Amino acid sequence: MENILEIKDLCKTYIVNKNQNNVLKNLNLLIQEGEMVAVMGPSGSGKSTLLYTASGMENLTAGEVIFGGRDISNVKPNELADIRLDEMGFIFQQMYMLKNLTVLDNVILPASQSKKSKESRKEITARGLDLMRKLGIVEIANNDINEVSGGQLQRACICRSLINRPKMIFADEPTGALNRNSSEEVMNELRKINEEGTAIMLVTHDVRVAAKCSRVLYIVDGNIKGEYNLDNYTDNAKEIRQREITLNKWLIDMGW
Ligand code: ADP
Ligand code: MG
Repeated sequence: MENILEIKDLCKTYIVNKNQNNVLKNLNLLIQEGEMVAVMGPSGSGKSTLLYTASGMENLTAGEVIFGGRDISNVKPNELADIRLDEMGFIFQQMYMLKNLTVLDNVILPASQSKKSKESRKEITARGLDLMRKLGIVEIANNDINEVSGGQLQRACICRSLINRPKMIFADEPTGALNRNSSEEVMNELRKINEEGTAIMLVTHDVRVAAKCSRVLYIVDGNIKGEYNLDNYTDNAKEIRQREITLNKWLIDMGW
């Protein structure tokens, strides 16, 4: 397996009111194609910052980020914008959807923005609808954004993140605003996407969510304090429960 993401000695410092806040401190991380990695850790430890710098959304203070073999810490801004649009998918808790567009139009927006995409509007629309069907929300395709539930909106975000067939998805607390059932459903969808080959890196506070991943990182004070590899996921309820229990034990050892 090739590495989809290589992070080398990543440092990120924010300066607020002349105070230097060293948020990420020489962080190193490799993620292979097809992995599903959960990032956990205390609030303020740098999880979101890691996701933002790894995905080129925030610039870095020092170090390197290699995505799909290319050093994205050193590419021109428009080149980075294209990589982010064509090769990465984003699911954030603040679900940035345009209010004056329908759910479907929001879902297909990144495809119409892509210079790489050679599909016609008709083909893009068909694929958007197909994704919405897969995620069980095709009936809200023509709704306004404010006419749908939180769980439906989060699924729409997943559809949108997938529309350009990304190599990797970055998700910041994708289930944070959802109830237990919606959270479980959204995670099952993310697992399917991952099984079809898309790497996923997600930040979560939820042991149940992390237990569905293949690897869990525990971040403390801007660095990876520990990591935990999970066995292949099964659908067996008893095994899932056992997985959550062992992960929980490890998290407690980490200081969770
Ligand atoms: P986590 O996601 O683990 O809760 P964050 O990565 O959001 O943590 O934040 C880590 C630290 O970086 C916090 O001290 C936070 O205040 C600071 N920080 C995050 N984003 C910014 C920003 N845009 N400007 C200044 N400081 C920031
Ligand atoms: Mg955060």
